[in-house]
Amino acid sequence: MTDEHYDLVIIGSGSTAFAAAIKAADLGKSAVMTESRTLGGTCVNRGCLPSKNLIEAARIYWEAEHPRYPGLAPATLGLNFKELVSGKDEVIRSYRTASTSRSSMTPTSSESSQARRASPTRIRSSSMATGLLAGRS
Ligand SMILES: Cc1cc2nc3c(=O)[nH]c(=O)nc-3n(C[C@H](O)[C@H](O)[C@H](O)COP(=O)(O)OP(=O)(O)OC[C@H]3O[C@@H](n4cnc5c(N)ncnc54)[C@H](O)[C@@H]3O)c2cc1C
Repeated sequence: MTDEHYDLVIIGSGSTAFAAAIKAADLGKSAVMTESRTLGGTCVNRGCLPSKNLIEAARIYWEAEHPRYPGLAPATLGLNFKELVSGKDEVIRSYRTASTSRSSMTPTSSESSQARRASPTRIRSSSMATGLLAGRS
């Protein structure tokens, strides 16, 4: 196990983590993220983004069958749920890539890693490289 030193260790890689890493980079500080699941956290992978994508698709499907305006005949759209889910997964993938490059961070590993606090100033993680580096290259 090697020791690495950062001004800021961010546990998780969700929206809050990105905000913290960007702020650290703005202040010229080094920061590292560690993530035990998937880069991007709840909002990107399981929350806001996928739910809104599928809710909007469901709205379009439902409204086609229940048009709001007189003169529009109800129609049943074809539904391929597998393609809908693939499209949603693609949106998530491209958002994850875009937010990583927009914040000028470098993914250093694709492994996930559960971080544990070893002391007030030390975090233990099997792969601290997981996640992103800000403020230093
Ligand atoms: C279905 C759904 C829909 C939502 N829709 C909206 C919406 O429309 N608008 C909105 O504002 N909010 C929405 N939310 C809420 C939003 O997703 C959360 O508020 C937001 O993701 C919180 O961000 P965060 O960075 O604080 O936490 P998270 O995104 O949850 O990130 C925390 C990360 O830390 C990681 N982690 C935890 N412990 C460790 C450890 N010891 N070591 C390493 N990693 C660790 C976790 O794996 C996780 O990825 C929704 C949530 C859900 C579930």
